[in-house]
Amino acid sequence: MNKIAVFDTKPYDKEWLEKLGTNYKFKFIESKLNNETVGLAKGCQGVCAFVNDEICKETIDQLYDLGINIIAMRCAGYSNVDFKSAFGKVHVVRVPVYSPHAVAEHAMALLLAVNRKIHKAYNRTRDFNFSLSGLTGMDLYGKTIGIIGTGKIGQTFIQICLGFGMRVLAYDLYPAKNTDLEYVDLDTLFKESDIISLHCPLTDQTKHILSKDAFSKMKKGVYIVNTSRGALIETEALLEALNDGTVAGAGLDVYEEEADYFFEDMSGAIVKDDMLSLLVSKPNVLLTSHQAFLTNEALENIAKVTIDNFDEYFAGECLTNEVCYHCQSGKVIENCARKE
Ligand code: NAD
Repeated sequence: MNKIAVFDTKPYDKEWLEKLGTNYKFKFIESKLNNETVGLAKGCQGVCAFVNDEICKETIDQLYDLGINIIAMRCAGYSNVDFKSAFGKVHVVRVPVYSPHAVAEHAMALLLAVNRKIHKAYNRTRDFNFSLSGLTGMDLYGKTIGIIGTGKIGQTFIQICLGFGMRVLAYDLYPAKNTDLEYVDLDTLFKESDIISLHCPLTDQTKHILSKDAFSKMKKGVYIVNTSRGALIETEALLEALNDGTVAGAGLDVYEEEADYFFEDMSGAIVKDDMLSLLVSKPNVLLTSHQAFLTNEALENIAKVTIDNFDEYFAGECLTNEVCYHCQSGKVIENCARKE
């Protein structure tokens, strides 16, 4: 029976992998995968990793030396993988789709909560404070929302927004075909949107797509939602925009420097990241710790596709969900047809 080292394991990962992966033996490891912990995979034939693991050259080289040639990401994103180093040594597979609804619905939950101040109201009423002052929000009906990235999650979120009666503006490097979406350039989206929601991947091009310059082009009182990747937003610029009133509120499920904090209970620790502390302390910022994916349906799909990915690899089949570095073009490509 093939043995899989599962890094950064949480109880829900264990539950679903054990339920659906009965043909594997799992070694569940709480630590994140990095060049110091990689040795824990010794004796395993495969590795299962997550969004904040450090899959750098050193990690990959050590896995290769341990005879491990497959990393199954139990997530869609892969910005934490050094594909150039992995090429020819370690296959990297992922779960491209598990529930766009999970993430899109969380984006709407953040927007609704931060706009209608549900987090503040919840705290007040628990203290028998039934005052409404300071809790005024705005109707979403009739407002303009700018969606950056109109892939699976972006389009699912758009359907929800249309259901609320909102006007949708979209921006994507590769606009979706066969839709009647109103695509505009980024500057127009910044200028006209009452709310901006991010649904594009983190790439060299999208890093800090919401920068100081971008915030300067936005409507005063705009709401920002980010359920994609933290580094899409320049945090310092967001803090400035929150301070000067450009941004009326932000619903964030991700943070630029989340890797050291998110998914862990840090309540007894001194958090040394001042920008994170500032964000958390603002009454008009609602921060969740990368939990948009966390529904039963998504967890079941993640475990199922992860097991299917391992099954294909160990059967020597073509890897449906491989991502790899294309040595000709120097690009990271999805669904690679490369076979060894
Ligand atoms: P997807 O690949 O279906 O869609 C991404 C879209 O972004 C595509 O349409 C693509 O053309 C577009 N895009 C790429 N580069 C762009 C650019 N420079 N400018 C504008 N648009 C660009 O991906 P998806 O499944 O919709 O996921 C979107 C993102 O959501 C992922 O990249 C991931 O970072 C994030 N995500 C977060 C969670 C969570 O729990 N918070 C869970 C899953 C995914």
